[in-house]
Amino acid sequence: TKWVLTFGDGRAEGRAELRELLGGKGANLAEMANLGLPVPPGYTITTEVCTYYYDNGRSYPADLAAQVDAGLEHIQTITGRLFGDADNPLLVSVRSGSRASMPGMMDTILNLGLNDVTVQGLAKGSDNPRFAYDSYRRFIQMYSNVVLDVSHHEFEDILEMTKERKGVSEDTELTADDLAKLVEAYKAKVLKATGKPFPQDPRDQLWGAIGAVFSSWMNARAITYRRLNSIPESWGTAVNVQAMVFGNMGDTSATGVAFTRNPSTGENRLYGEFLVNAQGEDVVAGIRTPQPITEASRIEGGVAAPSLEKRMPEVFAEFVRVSTVLEKHYRDMQDLEFTVERGKLWMLQARNGKRTAKAALKIAVDLASDGVLTRDEAVERIDPAALDQLLHPTIDPKAERKVVATGLPASPGAAQGELVFSSETAEAAVAAGKKVILARTETSPEDINGMHVSQGILTTRGGMTSHAAVVARGMGKPCVSGAGALRINEKAGTLTIAGRVFNQGDIVTIDGSTGQVMEGAVPMVQPELSGDFATLMRWADEVRRMGVRANAETPADARAAARFGAEGIGLCRTEHMFFDEKRIVAVREMILADDEAGRRKALAKLLPFQRADFVALFEIMKGLPVTIRLLDPPLHEFLPHTEKDMQEVAGALGVDVDKLRARAAELAEFNPMLGFRGCRLAIAYPEIAEMQARAIFEAAIEAAKSTGQAVTAEVMVPLVIGKADFDFVKARIDAVAKEVETETGQKLTYQVGTMIELPRAALKAGEIAETAEFFSFGTNDLTQTALGISRDDAASFLTRYVDKKLLPKDPFVSIDRDGVGELVQIGVERGRAVRPKIKLGICGEHGGDPESVAFCEEVGLDYVSCSPFRVPIARLAAAQAAL
Ligand code: PEP
Ligand code: MG
Repeated sequence: TKWVLTFGDGRAEGRAELRELLGGKGANLAEMANLGLPVPPGYTITTEVCTYYYDNGRSYPADLAAQVDAGLEHIQTITGRLFGDADNPLLVSVRSGSRASMPGMMDTILNLGLNDVTVQGLAKGSDNPRFAYDSYRRFIQMYSNVVLDVSHHEFEDILEMTKERKGVSEDTELTADDLAKLVEAYKAKVLKATGKPFPQDPRDQLWGAIGAVFSSWMNARAITYRRLNSIPESWGTAVNVQAMVFGNMGDTSATGVAFTRNPSTGENRLYGEFLVNAQGEDVVAGIRTPQPITEASRIEGGVAAPSLEKRMPEVFAEFVRVSTVLEKHYRDMQDLEFTVERGKLWMLQARNGKRTAKAALKIAVDLASDGVLTRDEAVERIDPAALDQLLHPTIDPKAERKVVATGLPASPGAAQGELVFSSETAEAAVAAGKKVILARTETSPEDINGMHVSQGILTTRGGMTSHAAVVARGMGKPCVSGAGALRINEKAGTLTIAGRVFNQGDIVTIDGSTGQVMEGAVPMVQPELSGDFATLMRWADEVRRMGVRANAETPADARAAARFGAEGIGLCRTEHMFFDEKRIVAVREMILADDEAGRRKALAKLLPFQRADFVALFEIMKGLPVTIRLLDPPLHEFLPHTEKDMQEVAGALGVDVDKLRARAAELAEFNPMLGFRGCRLAIAYPEIAEMQARAIFEAAIEAAKSTGQAVTAEVMVPLVIGKADFDFVKARIDAVAKEVETETGQKLTYQVGTMIELPRAALKAGEIAETAEFFSFGTNDLTQTALGISRDDAASFLTRYVDKKLLPKDPFVSIDRDGVGELVQIGVERGRAVRPKIKLGICGEHGGDPESVAFCEEVGLDYVSCSPFRVPIARLAAAQAAL
């Protein structure tokens, strides 16, 4: 088996398509080498070795060692340097690289190959002993941390002590001699901590590093990151071994990261940061504040330090050329890492850049407008779930902002919450139901859980490409980074700005689009949905087959739905209209009434309210279909539960509290979700359904008059078990329609259909379709009843099913294709067999989940219906499903 693939000097054994085998980094290095771009030579140990390693008790295939040797030989030939050579030593970097990008999650080792002998060769060769010893001490620290498990701070303490003794504050002020002594101290520390001297044989170092990278696949933060991003454990990581190039060889050397377009806004302009005389880790760690790549962003950002464009114009020109080649080649925005070694540019990484949803839209629309992508490809490029970011609130432009500090606008959108200063506090506070802003000096991969639960992230150090910025953008969370005026004291739980102290728990607002930090909860507004968003949505609408409706009952929801492009209402849950303060009295009167006459009297009071509700919905939807569902929940939900409330309600209704208590007891159920709800109410008390039907039909006539547009009312019966109960309710609805037609002399256009939300209804869909004019799959209840898992009690055990991989996903979030999906499919087939033109939709939560939307396309539903904020997501998901 070929376990090792080489690259460098204008060619490579691998290529971009071999991502599964080489990991993202390895595949892209190979591809860049094939494109003739300047890539330091190296080789990739494939992900298959990682799989082998874990399948075989952490051991390697027998023929791996020979192939690793051959790989080294390849690097030595191209560079003309020898591993372990005293005069002209080869140094390498060893990095992980999995199929999916996992920024900062796994380990990297630089400067490998340095020892007491080669450090002198490096000093001579570079004519810079300071640089050589600095590299050596960095290597010892990194290697010992990653491979030998000696904590970073052990070394940092020694470094700090040395600086103190010398009376200097910056690492750069230490001399070659100081650093050589530091190396001795570091080695002594390693001997003390591990009981063994620091390994001097470069080959031992190499194998130690390879083993550490494979082991890091199973470290805690990598496992968390995989879980949050649904990355399978079985993929494994590759290991990339590559000749070192040095950005810290003096003032003509540098290192940096860049995006070919702005990853926050999508603007088509090179965007990035670099540091002179530094190694890559310095930029990512956010310890020194980096300088911009282009002069334009320097001026805009008000950054004093010179840009790469000004400082190294030739390198800059070459970098522009390389980034153009790469963007053209990959047809997408690129995230680049580079190093300049004594005026020569080297590319260390190129990959499709992570970006905000806003930037993703702009980039896709721009690339399609430039003819680089087709419109369909642009539509396919956008992750529907990421649109959620765009639907996030921003600061109300009219609001007063009490700005206390300003940092970099690292990830857009506004967020507010209580200040917390550690990930653990963030998690605890959120578990207690709070909303928090996580404020850190800088974040590291260990903060991933805390970042995940926070509303937004604030850091005092680090640039736009710091860990906090990159991860926040990926999560779609607002982030302000590098707010240098802030001082955080984690232990004391305080944040100080110019002498002013904020405590843990104080409310702040951050604006990740401007970088502002504000005190208090500043009012926020909903986003504007025009521009690139509207363009891409239009392209999506052109290709999608399924309709997209919204679940909405209030005028505000209906207006939001219309604004988000809903093509009607797929589910109006009328029970939500019963809780209103003014109406609840009449609702309770109805429930407490002794006979039908009493109930009808109370229902008559509700009629005008319901009619007005429906008129408003019909008017807002302007002739688009509106599906109104008859009352669904059990009646006891409308009665008071505590003794105090009982007293109050009894007083207000003028009934005896004992009577109220008795009725409440009578209505109580052991299993309300499977109890007296849905059409069972209409069967026991047809007058309720009749009142609702009348309200719907009278509203339809009124709205048709006021808007001058025909109104299509769809009356939906919930929770039927078959044709008989459906027909019973339908007969009442039809009778009311006749009455209203006679009374008003107007002809009504309406349909009566049903929810399919019980397994029996799915099986009997053929019979039901004889009289039902539409079906809407209620996959919430269908999931509950098909799996026998209570919707309201699932939380305590369902996550374990997912954790133990007994279910692929929470079936209430993403449809259980195998089981519930089959029931839907049966319902579709049997329904259509009897009534070929029957209208079929879905209105469970799944209607807004992209994977479930894809399923709906496969089984050929006519539309999906979801909450208003998910309408754009569903539109895009439906388009992608159709492509
Ligand atoms: C359903 O069961 O899927 C549904 C939409 O109805 P509800 O959530 O109101 O029970
Ligand atoms: Mg239901």
